[in-house]
Amino acid sequence: MTMTPDRQKVDRDEVFLEYTKSICPVCKTVVDGEVNAKDNKVFLRKRCAEHGQFEALLYSDAEMYFDSLRFNKPGTIPLETQTEVKDGCPLDCGLCPEHKQHACLGIIEVNTNCNLDCPICFADSGHQPDGYSLTREQVALMLDTFVRSEGEPEVVMLSGGEPTIHPEILTFIAMAQDRGIRSVMLNTNGIRLARDARFVDELARLGPHIYLQFDGFELETHLAMRGRDLRADKERALEACERAGLHVTLVAAVEKGVNEHEAGAIVRFGVSHPAVMSVAFQPVTHSGRHAVFDPLERLTNADVIMLLAEQVPEWYRVSDFIPVPCCFPTCRSMSYAIADEDGIVPFTRLLDVERYLDYVSNRFFADVSVRGAFERMFSSSAAPGAESLLQACRSCGLDPSVFAEMLDDPWRKLFVVVIQDFQDPYTLNVRQLMKCCVEEITPDGRLIPFCAYNSVGYREQVREQLSGVRVAPVVPNARPLLPLLRTTPYGSKTAGNGSAARVDTRNVGRRLDVK
Ligand code: SF4
Ligand code: SF4
Ligand code: SF4
Repeated sequence: MTMTPDRQKVDRDEVFLEYTKSICPVCKTVVDGEVNAKDNKVFLRKRCAEHGQFEALLYSDAEMYFDSLRFNKPGTIPLETQTEVKDGCPLDCGLCPEHKQHACLGIIEVNTNCNLDCPICFADSGHQPDGYSLTREQVALMLDTFVRSEGEPEVVMLSGGEPTIHPEILTFIAMAQDRGIRSVMLNTNGIRLARDARFVDELARLGPHIYLQFDGFELETHLAMRGRDLRADKERALEACERAGLHVTLVAAVEKGVNEHEAGAIVRFGVSHPAVMSVAFQPVTHSGRHAVFDPLERLTNADVIMLLAEQVPEWYRVSDFIPVPCCFPTCRSMSYAIADEDGIVPFTRLLDVERYLDYVSNRFFADVSVRGAFERMFSSSAAPGAESLLQACRSCGLDPSVFAEMLDDPWRKLFVVVIQDFQDPYTLNVRQLMKCCVEEITPDGRLIPFCAYNSVGYREQVREQLSGVRVAPVVPNARPLLPLLRTTPYGSKTAGNGSAARVDTRNVGRRLDVK
């Protein structure tokens, strides 16, 4: 006689991929996390003893996620770290000696004030009565910290708030250049560039790269993302840059249901505009101030890549976007192309980029010149321009004249698309964070990984220290948290009564005394 069990074992509906650490999005306490694949998507799940379970979408295509992991490569140790290892990641930023990568890109937020009050602003900036504006001495210390850590830093980005309204912004650009930093980027909404010709003339003298907020062409997009119709300002800012010979990256924040249908049009416009060398797409960072979102339905890098392949099929395929190996490869993907008035040809059609990247990524003893050249091209410090391309070709034994001749034609340019998905308090994964190569430089001499700065509590800590005004701990404006949330004076959300007692105060890190 056979026995029929009255209960059957069932299979899980997900594949367990890894154990990691994250934070509770409400109180920011460090919690265990697990990464799972389900329905060809990758999710992070975690549980806080006080606030319960949270789950967020990390990558909307599991196959692309797995494929990107082979681009991971050994990081480079910075010359100097600024903090000690004490409480573990992400409480010890930074950089602490456990960090796995040097800083390809350092960011200095020179102020909190802005001439806009965008409904989305991860910096929680705007027309605010408090906040801070850095002094020359503070910026000097920050630049010196960066130089001591990097030796010869590749790129520093001056950001804010709105950096162009800081009265000393031109001096800050010159100070960075005087320290031998190769590329200085100015992160701007473009309003001053559009309206102040004398300022643009001064910028032309210094030649920073302009990182221009540019979310799309439709009125609804501008109102949803920036609260104002800025289309005429963007047009005038770009005309001014073209006249002044300033190179521009268009930076598009992309939010689900708002402007994802404009991604292809932004690329087409960028290719056709003489001043534009690249487009950076950033799925909206759900830190600071932002619209209500669903953490399980958000946009990820995979979505943006697929949108471009759908919206510009004559130029792009999914395979034209290569995960960047200097940071964790799911953070950022890039595509290089040669552009002319007829359109573009991605590099992936001209040479076997993967073969070279595999070579630099997966070998311990890769030829230093090959490694250096390709790393610079496919890294967060990649400065748009033909120089790095030609150097990479030379190093790899390719005939650079092929590209040099192509780029010699005045109608042609090197055109780069970068897609970067910043982490938020829902998606923060220390495995990814520990290899971050984009650091916020703070006036007390720390280099804090950008996603930790925005998610863990460091931003609130630094603003409070610099302004002397108490800053409520920011909590994501996420649908599952709505019953807990109230609005801060800056428009972001905090939990309950915003009392600091609810937050694990270790989460703001410490630093070693700067000598
Ligand atoms: S993110 Fe990096 S610097 Fe910060 S605690 Fe982790 S390992 Fe250290
Ligand atoms: S997103 Fe930029 S332009 Fe908008 S308020 Fe924030 S700092 Fe200002
Ligand atoms: S800033 Fe965030 S998304 Fe970018 S490299 Fe660092 S961890 Fe990755």
